[in-house]
Amino acid sequence: MPSAYDHTRQDLAVLLDGEPPFRARQVWAGLHERVQRPEEMTELPAALRRSLAHALPPALHEVSRRTADAGRTTKWLWALADGTRVETVLMHYPDRTTVCVSTQAGCAMACQFCATGQSGFERHLTPGEIVEQVATAVRAARPRRLSNVVFMGMGEPLANYDRVWAAIVRLNGDMGLSARHLTLSTVGLVPGIRRLAAETLPVNLAVSLHAANDTLRDELVPINRRYPLAELAAACADYVAASGRRLSIEWALIDGVNDRSGDAEELASFARPLGAHVNLIPLNPTPGYAVIGSPPEKVRRFRDQLDALHVNATIRATRGAEIDAACGQLAASTPVRLVRGGHGR
Ligand code: SAH
Repeated sequence: MPSAYDHTRQDLAVLLDGEPPFRARQVWAGLHERVQRPEEMTELPAALRRSLAHALPPALHEVSRRTADAGRTTKWLWALADGTRVETVLMHYPDRTTVCVSTQAGCAMACQFCATGQSGFERHLTPGEIVEQVATAVRAARPRRLSNVVFMGMGEPLANYDRVWAAIVRLNGDMGLSARHLTLSTVGLVPGIRRLAAETLPVNLAVSLHAANDTLRDELVPINRRYPLAELAAACADYVAASGRRLSIEWALIDGVNDRSGDAEELASFARPLGAHVNLIPLNPTPGYAVIGSPPEKVRRFRDQLDALHVNATIRATRGAEIDAACGQLAASTPVRLVRGGHGR
């Protein structure tokens, strides 16, 4: 099994066959509640600790770890057991600590402006590989408490629905993270949004919109050809009605592409009926896309126009840009990054 967190309680009981029955409970609580590695579970006999450390090795092997923003942002590049590489980003804010996790190695959605999309799809991550990213962040965040998890790293979470949902159940039920502090971000896979609406755990949903007319969105977010805006809006409305949660819309502002006054009007028409909150972020540069992010004055003007159109919008601060940890920049398979990884720039 790739990760200790891929084991069920029953798997642990099998692994601990011959030990007293309470051991499985102890190890489970160590992994999830105290977020310990087996070798740190001092309530276990030393020999058992050693054998468990061997039987439950970490799935994530650190290739590099880089920090930015005066230590408030950390990005890890991990090698998984099969050599696949993924990234995780930990961010401290005054009022919360958030980890941004990957759900796939690479991504098949092919959004042009996204570094992960440019690299193509490698494989799905297992539930344990996703949970272990959070566990690692919990440990690294100490003494601060990790409060939020956003599924906004590499990959499209709703294209890996079952495994991502299994991870969410573990994070919520076993690690005690509240559903209100878990946010799934999607390009807009309508069947996935509909499945999410039927779940009993109301997590936050963010939709990466970036364009609110089908012609432009077909180009920026190709999956729009399959699930055009009208269908997406209907699925979002159902999610809001079913979950009672507020929807977020992500909008990466691209200079001269989706930051004009007409774009704000189209966005407002999409967002207002859904009562959605809009997160604006100037596009971060990526190697495979020639267009740049909107300059600050255009970002502000766009926000002000949304305000005037009665749409709630926040300009999001970019984190980790100088370590390529910013939104859309995660691309662990790019050879140049592997060479540079860990040496700073
Ligand atoms: N596949 C999911 C989650 C991963 S991307 C999704 O698309 O929502 C997380 C967010 O970063 C998305 O909103 C995505 O559109 C955005 N993003 C991608 N490339 C970006 C870039 N170059 N600059 C800013 N945001 C970007």
